[in-house]
Amino acid sequence: MSSKGKASSNNKASTRTSVEKQTEQVSPCTGGRTHDSTPTRTQCRTQRPVPTQTTRRPRAKSPVQDTTLPAQSAHQGGGTRRKSLNRRPSPSQIRNSVRSGSIEEDPSKVLLKTLDQLKIRRHARSKAAGIKNEVVAKIKSHLERSRNFNDIKTLPTGSYFENLKISSPDEFDVMFTVRVDRVDVQPFGSDGAYYSVRFKRLPKKHVLDQFLQDDDILCASKMLAEFRREVKEALKTLPMEGLKMEPKKPRSPAVTLVLKDGEREISIDIVLGLEVCGSWPLCAQEGMGIENWLGTKVKREYKFKPYYLVPKHEGSANKEEDGVRAKDVWRISFSHVEKEIMKNHGSEKTCCEEKGPKCCRKQCLKLLKHLLTELKVRHPSELSKFCSYFAKTTLLHACMVRCKDSEWMLANLHQCFDCLLEDFVGHLRRKELPNFFVPQHNLLGSVSAESCKTLAKYIETERNNGFPIFKNGVVKG
Ligand SMILES: [Zn+2]
Repeated sequence: MSSKGKASSNNKASTRTSVEKQTEQVSPCTGGRTHDSTPTRTQCRTQRPVPTQTTRRPRAKSPVQDTTLPAQSAHQGGGTRRKSLNRRPSPSQIRNSVRSGSIEEDPSKVLLKTLDQLKIRRHARSKAAGIKNEVVAKIKSHLERSRNFNDIKTLPTGSYFENLKISSPDEFDVMFTVRVDRVDVQPFGSDGAYYSVRFKRLPKKHVLDQFLQDDDILCASKMLAEFRREVKEALKTLPMEGLKMEPKKPRSPAVTLVLKDGEREISIDIVLGLEVCGSWPLCAQEGMGIENWLGTKVKREYKFKPYYLVPKHEGSANKEEDGVRAKDVWRISFSHVEKEIMKNHGSEKTCCEEKGPKCCRKQCLKLLKHLLTELKVRHPSELSKFCSYFAKTTLLHACMVRCKDSEWMLANLHQCFDCLLEDFVGHLRRKELPNFFVPQHNLLGSVSAESCKTLAKYIETERNNGFPIFKNGVVKG
């Protein structure tokens, strides 16, 4: 949180990014609309009611509509939207307003500038990553010598590894995984997100047996406590000044380490995960509908991968179901598949490759995460329940619906982002955001309807006013 970002953005005013250059070539916002006869695939649900705003700005249109249809026919039937388009200020009005500072510049420019500000400086990123690697390697080698975790592996997860880190390069997530075989994994609760793990048969003394209940249930709370103790031991062997373990947060599966490095703070979330090979639980069979987007072959490949279980529960720790306490259950994780999907995200193999066409899926996600972060900074208590995973899930659903690369052209960033916001607001208004892998699990299930409505309202206000929050952002890279 410094003014550095702001200063650098001013300096960059005359330095156009490659994204900006590309956008200018065909952006409908700058008059480069093309008219061809490609059939339309209108996926952006423009007819959804939008609350009246006093300072409504023209919204972006569906990305495909924009490039394929003349402006008027593209908006037939979209009553609310048509009205907002009619209010588009004339060029002279815009010039006057910009001059007087009363309204913002072209929203596409605002988004591009924001993305530019979010770009993490390469050297800062590599330095923080170097420190993180050293810490992780030391902890791993300590665990390998321990009694219970000698078979540990690391699985890099989280947004840094997906190149989606926003606002700070200094937060890392690493999963330390322990493979478990011959286990019976049973759902806990009805939404398919939480599971109990029971060892079927222990032929001889097992390294994890000290974490078992009488009925061979693997106790998440016991195992996490021991893992935490071992990580603490490992820290004693690390000659790094200012490296500390944060106090345990209730219901968090992570052991958080913080390292002060001069002015900056590096934080590493270490999560314990069980690696389970074999077919995914029944509840996860229905999810990940990527057939039309990434193809059936890719889907099959992903389904052959293991899944992970992290020591996390919801609600009261002592709630019991069939003799299993909530604090001893595990939450399912497919972060390794999410990482793969984000890396190979195109319906065509060449998407975003060096010589291939560029899409804006990642940019849209970065912007949505950034918007959420900025809103949370301003309304911490009201929005405490919302996390960036909701943004990622919204994008995954959007990619499933608007599955072609042509629907995410980088040149149409503003329209694509607008559609993504519309999706997100829709999820909030319905208080329904299915887990991408386990559709029965509603990520908004534990969030109050009031909080959902509040966030939807904040987002609509930003969207209708050209994202003032991005211009006055407090979270900087
Ligand atoms: Zn792409």
